[in-house]
Amino acid sequence: MFRYIGSVNISVHAQTSTNLVVLHGELFNISRTEYNREKDYFIIEVHMPFVRGRSYVLTLPFQNKLTEDFKSGYFVGYNEGKNEMDRSWFSLTQFERNYIRNVFPSFDEPALRATFNVTLGHHRRFQSFSNMPLLRRFNSSDLKDYVWSMHEVSPLMPTYLLAFSINNFTCMFSTTFGREPVEFRTCSHVTQVQALSLASLSAPKLFQYFENLFQVPCPLREIQQLAIPHLPIAAMENWGLVVYSDEMIMQKNQKNLTNLTQGQTKTLQLVSHEMVHMWFGNLVTISWWDSLWLNEGLAGYFEAAGVEYLQMNSGRKILFKYREGSLMNELMDKPVAINASSDKGLIENSSVAYVYQKVTTIVRMLNAMLGDEVFYEGLYFYLSQYSYSNTTPDQFWGKMQMASLRSGVLPDDHKVNTIMDSWTNQAGYPVLDVIRNYNNNTISFVQNHFSSNESHSEVWWIPLTYTTQSERNFSSTRTKAWLIQPSMHLNMPLLTEEWVMFNIQAVGYYRVNYDEHNWRLIASDLYENHKRIHVLNRAQIVSDCLYLWQQGRIRWLTAVDVLKYIIEEDEYEPLVAFVLGVTNGFWGMSPDSSLIIAKWLGSAGKWYAEFINYTFNWFVLIKSKHFRQLQM
Ligand SMILES: [Zn+2]
Repeated sequence: MFRYIGSVNISVHAQTSTNLVVLHGELFNISRTEYNREKDYFIIEVHMPFVRGRSYVLTLPFQNKLTEDFKSGYFVGYNEGKNEMDRSWFSLTQFERNYIRNVFPSFDEPALRATFNVTLGHHRRFQSFSNMPLLRRFNSSDLKDYVWSMHEVSPLMPTYLLAFSINNFTCMFSTTFGREPVEFRTCSHVTQVQALSLASLSAPKLFQYFENLFQVPCPLREIQQLAIPHLPIAAMENWGLVVYSDEMIMQKNQKNLTNLTQGQTKTLQLVSHEMVHMWFGNLVTISWWDSLWLNEGLAGYFEAAGVEYLQMNSGRKILFKYREGSLMNELMDKPVAINASSDKGLIENSSVAYVYQKVTTIVRMLNAMLGDEVFYEGLYFYLSQYSYSNTTPDQFWGKMQMASLRSGVLPDDHKVNTIMDSWTNQAGYPVLDVIRNYNNNTISFVQNHFSSNESHSEVWWIPLTYTTQSERNFSSTRTKAWLIQPSMHLNMPLLTEEWVMFNIQAVGYYRVNYDEHNWRLIASDLYENHKRIHVLNRAQIVSDCLYLWQQGRIRWLTAVDVLKYIIEEDEYEPLVAFVLGVTNGFWGMSPDSSLIIAKWLGSAGKWYAEFINYTFNWFVLIKSKHFRQLQM
């Protein structure tokens, strides 16, 4: 059995005179202490009170068993050898969330920051990793063949980002370019290290890309990445010591990144995500766990930007999948209000993957709404003002507001937090009904809850973007009008025989329904030459059309009319939207397997009409039954 022993020195400054110190910790073997089980508080009573204004160092010894249980905070694992004797063991920490208190007492809350000096004692045939590079290594004075590894002092950071590991991994080296390069070490068991070349080479590229994008420096000059076998999480963004599940990142680099496999794209996605966290999460941290969605939503959005930077159109596909995934999950599961209270059950809910997908989609909408210049200025204000500190979502919206005020991009009475609260505090999303009056050139807009359940009265702040058949401007995603009431009318002089299309590039988190005639105009234009409509709008039309038909909001003849163009479609997003929509939730299909079906569908074009007929009839039979089940 393995054990570890240690001691922690915590420097404190007394802001008030007291003889009580309350830390987070499990029961430790120290006299004159108390343990509050409910709150995980470790309470120390001292004989001599702390005097206000003075500084003290608390020295607390600790020891524990070292098991393979990841939730124990500090655990061991191994890489398989030929037999049990050949196993090569390593140790590793996982402190997010609340696990550090199983190892030693600390002030374990995300809003509390400290610098950390880590020194690890271990056998000389191992090496030591922590957030910061090794400063020096020296022999133990009382244990033969044992050494002390002392690491550089860390930046100010919360306890959950602290990490260390003892192992005998082998590393690949890579670096960013420029005046102050950041060194990367990507390490695993020697038998696997060659398979880490994609993670090793892409991490510095992504890091540098984000440094340029955010324009706010990250203090690290060295970042280590460890590939860990049997890790129960995909990755953890410890500042300077990023940890991955080995099977997620074992992908070889290719000279040419144009034709990546699914596994390689996933690796890039994960590395990109963790690199974003060096800023969003680590440099600026949330004040409490109930706002975790903000960091994860931002990480998801920029993860896609990073992948797009390395491989064109791949980031776009990621964002598309997140959007479709979120829309689908609101239907299949209970709709999600993101801004959960600090109630414990809701905290759990806020860490579910589809909550993050929704936030990522909403951040994309925010970016489009404000335009790149204002959005990135807001990010800059946010990151530079709150570096090494903690924030709430309101402070994030506040910086976006500040940037938008300078540019006048939003009407005076439109506040970013009011707009965004309507998307995060309310569950679900709206369906925008666009009904044209062809006699007097007006359009009436009505927003409805997606579930078409009459009891809903939610109103969202919907940024409207649109183009027309004669204009075909699919490049501008800036807001042209706002719908902030349940309904409104607008004068729009349009030709009777041209379509109008809302939600350019599907940047808004809402579906759009049209009057019958407008649908017909879109259908015949798609059928004539679908390439003249932006690929993301084609995907949205396909997705919306199938959904609206399933909800009984459009006639199935209309849906078939719009969808009949799909036989000519050859791009990822509309094809995936088609198969996801047709099979929505029934077969539990992933976007990528639906692409395979869509491709098959394309090649089997002559059976297409029969397939559609069959599928639609099949839906008619089971739809009512299925949706009744869903509402339970
Ligand atoms: Zn994350």
